Amino acid sequence: MTLQDVLAQVVDPEFDLTLGELGMVDRVEETPSQVLASILLPGLGYQRVDELRVRILDSLETAGKTGTVDLEFSPMDEVRQLELSLKLTGALQRNGHSDNGGGHDHPGSGGPISTNLPASCRVLGISSGKGGVGKSSVTVNLAVALAKRGKTVAVLDADVYGFSVPGMLGITQPPMALDRLVIPPKSQGIRCLSMGYFVAEDQPVIWRGPMLHKALEQFLTDSWWGPVDFLVVDMPPGTGDVTLSLAQYLPEAEIFVVTTPQPAAQRVAQRSAFASKKLKLTVRGVIENMSWFRGDDSKRYEIFGSGGGQVLADTISAPLIGQIPISVDLREAGDNGTMADRFDQVSEVRDAFLGLADKIITMRPTKRRSSELKVVGSS
Ligand code: ADP
Repeated sequence: MTLQDVLAQVVDPEFDLTLGELGMVDRVEETPSQVLASILLPGLGYQRVDELRVRILDSLETAGKTGTVDLEFSPMDEVRQLELSLKLTGALQRNGHSDNGGGHDHPGSGGPISTNLPASCRVLGISSGKGGVGKSSVTVNLAVALAKRGKTVAVLDADVYGFSVPGMLGITQPPMALDRLVIPPKSQGIRCLSMGYFVAEDQPVIWRGPMLHKALEQFLTDSWWGPVDFLVVDMPPGTGDVTLSLAQYLPEAEIFVVTTPQPAAQRVAQRSAFASKKLKLTVRGVIENMSWFRGDDSKRYEIFGSGGGQVLADTISAPLIGQIPISVDLREAGDNGTMADRFDQVSEVRDAFLGLADKIITMRPTKRRSSELKVVGSS
């Protein structure tokens, strides 16, 4: 195999595509004692050079290319970036992942928008009536559980009141830019885009809502998520702007409402469920979090009471699809950014999330994306 072929087959750790597909192999030279290659890094803020170098060196060794290796990395020029971004967005369409020949078409407030999500991608909106019920924790754990079941998963952190998802997943690097495309960073194979990257932390919450509407549109049109099966959205608690934006841009989103077991909590959760329904979003299920704590004596203690999840489910006519126990481990993993690692050990809470993921996987998607779908309030 030629040096060019060997390099072209290396899989890039950021895009999960080959260097050949990405047009990253530039100049190569080979003598019996030396290999010289210059690699073009796609986009600004490419963070995985070290990993890429290791992969290249491994492939060269496997291919028997011994001798001195001299690798040179430099950023792609603007023209190549543009070409690659068009190729990436076009690839999903050519492979039949996208409908209407161009992503999702949605009649948003400023005319149709076309997202870079594959047509087969299911969008799960995780909502709650109020903060603190564990919505972000459920979002992240559900995403990890779906990934453990072999699905390709991405998370959109749209909770204006506190952007916590990247931290829980242990993501520290910001998204990278490839021409106009935003490439969400990933950890353990899960890509995550947080609105928090784009909204100043000291910005009052009241300003964030309207800004997010525009930001959400931009994310959905200008981000490259790859061939994802599920996009899990951490929605802000309550009934506000982001729900409206989601209803406009992703009307096929399936809503799951998180609540705790006490009856007072379910009354608040009910409002967010009704708001979603009013916006014609489908509420597909209720997830009860903090359902019990299992003591050292193996007994279940229902610290926050019981029955709230089922009452909510009955009230909004959606099934109760999961009950998640209280777990000190889960809280610590959230704080330390090690949610995904925790799934390697057997635990009651892990099994609860895997069970939840299985239920969601077996549910048939409700609506298909279509340009026929009308925005509430539009003519
Ligand atoms: P929300 O997104 O609803 O505001 P979070 O997911 O941020 O809630 O959770 C609030 C706090 O509760 C966090 O400290 C989180 O670690 C903790 N928490 C959430 N669910 C559980 C659980 N099942 N067991 C233990 N702690 C939990």
